[in-house]
Amino acid sequence: MTSTNSHLADVSEPARSVPLFGEFDVVVLGGGPAGIAAASAAARNGASVLLAERYGFLGGMGTAAGVTNFCGLHANVFGDIRQVVHGVASDLLERMRALDGLSEPHMIMRKTLAQAYDMSAFKCAADGLLAADGVHLLFHALAAGMLKTEDGKIDAVLLETKSGRVAVRGRTFIDCSGDADLAHWAGVPTEKGDESGHMLYPTLMFRVGEVDAELAGEAWKTIPKLMDEAEASGEFQFPRRGAIVRPMKRAYEWRVNVTQLKKPDGSATDGTDARSLSEGEIEGRRQIVDYIRFLRAKVPGFEQAYALDIAPQLGIRETRRLVGEYMLTAEDVLQCVDFEDSIGVNGWPLEKHVAGDVQWMWPPIPDCRGYNQLPYRMMLPRRSSANGVENLLVAGRCASMTHDGQSAARVSGACFVMGQAAGTAAALALQAGRSLHDLDRRKLQDRLLQQGAFLGGRAVNAAATASRSAFR
Ligand SMILES: Cc1cc2nc3c(=O)[nH]c(=O)nc-3n(C[C@H](O)[C@H](O)[C@H](O)COP(=O)(O)OP(=O)(O)OC[C@H]3O[C@@H](n4cnc5c(N)ncnc54)[C@H](O)[C@@H]3O)c2cc1C
Repeated sequence: MTSTNSHLADVSEPARSVPLFGEFDVVVLGGGPAGIAAASAAARNGASVLLAERYGFLGGMGTAAGVTNFCGLHANVFGDIRQVVHGVASDLLERMRALDGLSEPHMIMRKTLAQAYDMSAFKCAADGLLAADGVHLLFHALAAGMLKTEDGKIDAVLLETKSGRVAVRGRTFIDCSGDADLAHWAGVPTEKGDESGHMLYPTLMFRVGEVDAELAGEAWKTIPKLMDEAEASGEFQFPRRGAIVRPMKRAYEWRVNVTQLKKPDGSATDGTDARSLSEGEIEGRRQIVDYIRFLRAKVPGFEQAYALDIAPQLGIRETRRLVGEYMLTAEDVLQCVDFEDSIGVNGWPLEKHVAGDVQWMWPPIPDCRGYNQLPYRMMLPRRSSANGVENLLVAGRCASMTHDGQSAARVSGACFVMGQAAGTAAALALQAGRSLHDLDRRKLQDRLLQQGAFLGGRAVNAAATASRSAFR
């Protein structure tokens, strides 16, 4: 008899000793935008670094989930749209450009820019960047647990690999897993979803090929209406409104962000639940088959379109988030707030993937600066409740933000910012012999500025803002 009943009794696994794979100053878990920037920055600042990633390539949701588009690199600063995320992100972009893997930035709702890219270029450029910085990469390494020291710090992360289970010791750990896996295992408080536990809905991304670019033209403008008509006729039913169907650099390829995955009770598929993920992948592919049928039947230029690829995994927008020293809120984003301990900026609005729709909320562009600063404290576990875990930072989409704040600062731009700051902070704190909580924030900011980051405001960034009178 087979069963997947969750009420079956647990089995016991005997204790065993585990080979030590290595010891590093800084261990980064996860190779998405945050992890890439964290590993690069820690290594550039003198730390020995290992980045462990469950897949065989870097990029996180940007590659594994087929996102293929950078948001949040730009902001609308009093009507002037400009790149506001630099540092490691700029170096990566440069490498992607050299591989002919970047599209020209395109307009989003006449308010800001986003930049599409070729997925393979992201993977290859990220490999090159981390190799140049001397980061040790361990691919096909799924973290499955951790060990603590007697005083409660994280001692080692346990990785499942094809060579068996191994342990990697670190002095400082940076959790860039997107799901706060390491923080969760270490007993650091995290939370999921809004006050009712509702998370942003996931999407299985895909690209279609063989689009007749001339005929398709600016189809992204007409597709929503064609979907409404197709639905009204009863011929098609779509999982959500707010379809994002856009051409890639080679305009016979388009990326499609239109599926929406939910559990039987209607709530979002849970990226930390194995059953839910499994069902979501299958339902995502069913929706894709249906949507390609719609494109071919109803959208001029898409008559021959086919599934060029379906992303290797479901695109997860939100799961666990750290409850840290500061939680970034929707108001912080909408009011373009400053923080004394700024590590960089977020220029993306609230983008809430709710049941059946996508809701956008922008700061009052163009009558505002168009970005908020991001505080160092949003990566720091709360000292009072971290159970002695003093050697952990959490960066990227699982950093400390409210559900609504995360709907903005989860995008790649802000994740690069947090990653660079986390890696730099980890290296500086080790060199100074200080805890991450007691790190001199001004020294961190100085180092970030020296290494090309933009911190976003006069108070912390006088040099960069002096020539730009529009910054207030
Ligand atoms: C469908 C979709 C569309 C999106 N569209 C855009 C967009 O257009 N532009 C944009 O900028 N952003 C977009 N985003 C958001 C953005 O892609 C992510 O929020 C961003 O990639 C988060 O970066 P991160 O580094 O924090 O985490 P992730 O990108 O999630 O990376 C986490 C990494 O950790 C690895 N990992 C996780 N757990 C483990 C473990 N236990 N052991 C080992 N490795 C592990 C994962 O494999 C992954 O590589 C979208 C997201 C989704 C889901």
